[in-house]
Amino acid sequence: MTITETEFDGYTLEGLREKYKHERDRRIRSDGLGQYRATKGEFGYYAKDPYTEQVEREPKTDSVEVLVVGGGFGGLVVAAHLRKAGIESIRMLDEAGDFGGTWYWNRYPGIHCDIESYSYMPLLEDVGTVPSMRYAPGEEIRQHAMGIAKKFDLYREALFHTRVTELTWDEKEENWLVSTDRGDRMRARFVLTSSGTLTQPKLPGIPGIENFKGHTFHTSRWDYGYTGGDQFGGLTGLADKKVAVVGTGATGIQVIPFVGRDAQQLLVFQRTPSTVDVRGQRPTDPEWAASLKPGWQKERMDNFLAVVSGEPVEVDMTADGWTSTAELQRKVVTGRIDSALPTDERERIEEIVDATKMAGIRARIDEVVTDPETAEKLKPWYRYMCKRPTFSDLYLQTYNRDNVTLVDTADHGGITRMTENAIVVGDTEYEVDCVIFATGFFSGVSGVMSGDLPVHGRDGKVLLESWAYGPRTLHGFMSHGFPNQFHLGPVQNANSVNFTHILQDQAEHLAAVIAKARELGVRVLEPTADAEARWVETIQTSAHDSSVFFNECTPGYYNQEGMPIPLKVTYDPGPFAFRRVLSEWRENGLAEVLGPIS
Ligand code: NDP
Repeated sequence: MTITETEFDGYTLEGLREKYKHERDRRIRSDGLGQYRATKGEFGYYAKDPYTEQVEREPKTDSVEVLVVGGGFGGLVVAAHLRKAGIESIRMLDEAGDFGGTWYWNRYPGIHCDIESYSYMPLLEDVGTVPSMRYAPGEEIRQHAMGIAKKFDLYREALFHTRVTELTWDEKEENWLVSTDRGDRMRARFVLTSSGTLTQPKLPGIPGIENFKGHTFHTSRWDYGYTGGDQFGGLTGLADKKVAVVGTGATGIQVIPFVGRDAQQLLVFQRTPSTVDVRGQRPTDPEWAASLKPGWQKERMDNFLAVVSGEPVEVDMTADGWTSTAELQRKVVTGRIDSALPTDERERIEEIVDATKMAGIRARIDEVVTDPETAEKLKPWYRYMCKRPTFSDLYLQTYNRDNVTLVDTADHGGITRMTENAIVVGDTEYEVDCVIFATGFFSGVSGVMSGDLPVHGRDGKVLLESWAYGPRTLHGFMSHGFPNQFHLGPVQNANSVNFTHILQDQAEHLAAVIAKARELGVRVLEPTADAEARWVETIQTSAHDSSVFFNECTPGYYNQEGMPIPLKVTYDPGPFAFRRVLSEWRENGLAEVLGPIS
């Protein structure tokens, strides 16, 4: 590869490094993650379910073979694969009012998949559907989640608006006692948790936020009763309103064009601009859909996963903004762009490729946004992947509307304060009728990872206590002392931008392991302490320390607000390497988790 250094927006590479550092220093806050407030207690109303009425029911005290905690795609795919493996007794449980997980909660106008739907939406061939758009609308994805549940008969035993409050292993009965906030005390031989990574909405800890008397809500609990319309727009309730949207992450980028179109006035409060690349949205070609042969989805998913994780492919079937920047994404995992080059040369080339990409992102802003001052404020000054990349063909264009104003809050570390009827930035007061928080979620704090769900294993051992120095698992799925309990998620497992694919790989593996145990008459599955210790060691030695990269990044949830902890949590050789590890282990290592045969 021949790459010559040049200037980027008038900066040399060194100058650019300085500029990025300056922008990071301008944004960094000493209170880090402490700047946010949970949607609990006095702010609990922000997290209430606006979509489904809670129905009273009697507490359950029965027994099932498998209990799946989480009705999002992780829970759905694992339950579907267990059904395929012949398991009849499956109960699914979720805090939401129906299936869908993140797609249940997030229903804001403009919501779309941002990974190509043909690869993102699981089990398309099983359900017998092809998404209507290349990047499907959120409602279609939610309906698909419900479609999977119907197809695999998962509504039968499902419990919604139910939160597990405690899991306790019963040594004598060899099953789990499951307690919930609805008074249930039921039992399950196997418990699988797939409770998501970005589930708890967060609010900025803006001084005076509690004093605001106008209307307010979080994007993950959209109030259509107030705004009117639906996910496709028609927000007639905003026609006479001055609306503030706070936040310009992946959610803000999708929602802002729709609020801008319908509100009398929209004020966007930005702290750090996102990278906004071309989307290339298009309807699905019906001829193409009709021509698809059985097995098409797996082929396409594998191809996408291969491209983004650096496996050799003959053709890039997706060819979009994710696959074209795959090398730039991989630097945060593997820290390399071309392993054949010496390290210092690799780093220089990677930096040039990054600087070229970011200059292109900024150039697009100048091309689209007509007001030069607004265009300047929209420009991101950090390395690609410091924040989640976003894609839109509508977002930048919104700032050309007369009723839309961008308010840059970066110099003040965000919004300064709120009053009864206004948002204040520095000394300037902006009166508004409604404030919509597109301020994201606490990362990785749901289910067994949160203190809210204590897990008591063998001999009363508490899961989070035995993880006091970091997670301890075999392959991310099971822990010693916690028989028949399985976790789905990225911890000590593979990871990818197409996370539903990772979940499907996990589901197939777990279904195969549980099916094998049943076939052998094994009632208890638990990794030996030795097998667990070896996997923890593998994770420690194979993981790339991305904190080096994130230390220099502008703050955000990717780097714990600018204070990255060098935690090695994923299997960084990648999802294909991980598949090989699991397949070999199913052949030769299963004895490590098999208890006595009854
Ligand atoms: P993010 O955490 O990415 O964004 C939150 C936004 O709120 C940021 O712009 C942040 O600014 C801003 N903010 C926070 N506090 C303040 C403050 N005090 N004053 C002003 N602004 C503030 O959350 P999102 O909901 O946008 O995205 C979260 C994740 O959800 C994504 O990264 C993605 O993984 C997923 N997602 C996926 C989508 C899909 O289609 N698949 C769509 C939407 C989201 P700053 O950057 O300065 O902190």
